[in-house]
Amino acid sequence: MTHHDSEQRRGPGGRGAIVALDGPAGSGKSTVAGALAYALGATHVDTGAFYRALTLAVRRAGAPVDDEQACVAVAERSHITRADGRTLLDGQDVEDAIRSADVDAHVSAVAAHPAVRERLVAAQRAAVGPDGAVVEGRDAGTVVVPDADLKVWLTATPAERAARRGAQLGITDPGDLAAIEADLARRDDADAAQMARATDATVVDTTGRGVDDLVADLAARARAAYARATRSEVTR
Ligand code: C5P
Repeated sequence: MTHHDSEQRRGPGGRGAIVALDGPAGSGKSTVAGALAYALGATHVDTGAFYRALTLAVRRAGAPVDDEQACVAVAERSHITRADGRTLLDGQDVEDAIRSADVDAHVSAVAAHPAVRERLVAAQRAAVGPDGAVVEGRDAGTVVVPDADLKVWLTATPAERAARRGAQLGITDPGDLAAIEADLARRDDADAAQMARATDATVVDTTGRGVDDLVADLAARARAAYARATRSEVTR
């Protein structure tokens, strides 16, 4: 990155654009967030990865996932960071391990503890870089970066969400896809308390839309919102 690029990204307000991208599991968030961050020259903050990494640490420690104090104790001695799209737990790359069925099954319980959320939200905010960020999760627009320039809530039909998750896992059998759909619905229920759609979020249905089209659309919206926000910041 040249100095000039960085200056451009940071804009007149001396900061980069912040986008909050929320939605349920399988709505296309991760793929879109990564590509959008790249398009904007911003950092991709995958907040779900933090909850997943902590869940892995809790399971490895043999601690009960429904015990808030035990989960917090594990969080206190765990160091969770992200680098180059990978998740590190105490310096070890756990990006593949945090996508396991075991973590899928227990992450909602770990993420439900308020004291866990407080600690991890602080780590997520610390991951927002000076060149801006696309913060992806369930509560980015309401809790992690409530002052985001643009807030988007992604949706997709349950069948499409299951098909996407199946494609990631190489699964096409209709019976297996039905099981994935049921599992996504179960996680939606378990995450309901965390799924906070900001009143000022734009709802975008990703069903049947390609990634390139979505990313171009959201990048244009983000640039426009950022230009408006930085104009009002410098004239204030
Ligand atoms: O987005 P992803 O499916 O990787 O998130 C994994 C889990 O982490 C969610 O099912 C939810 O329990 C939790 N989560 C959360 N708040 C966020 C992001 C994820 O509670 N902001």
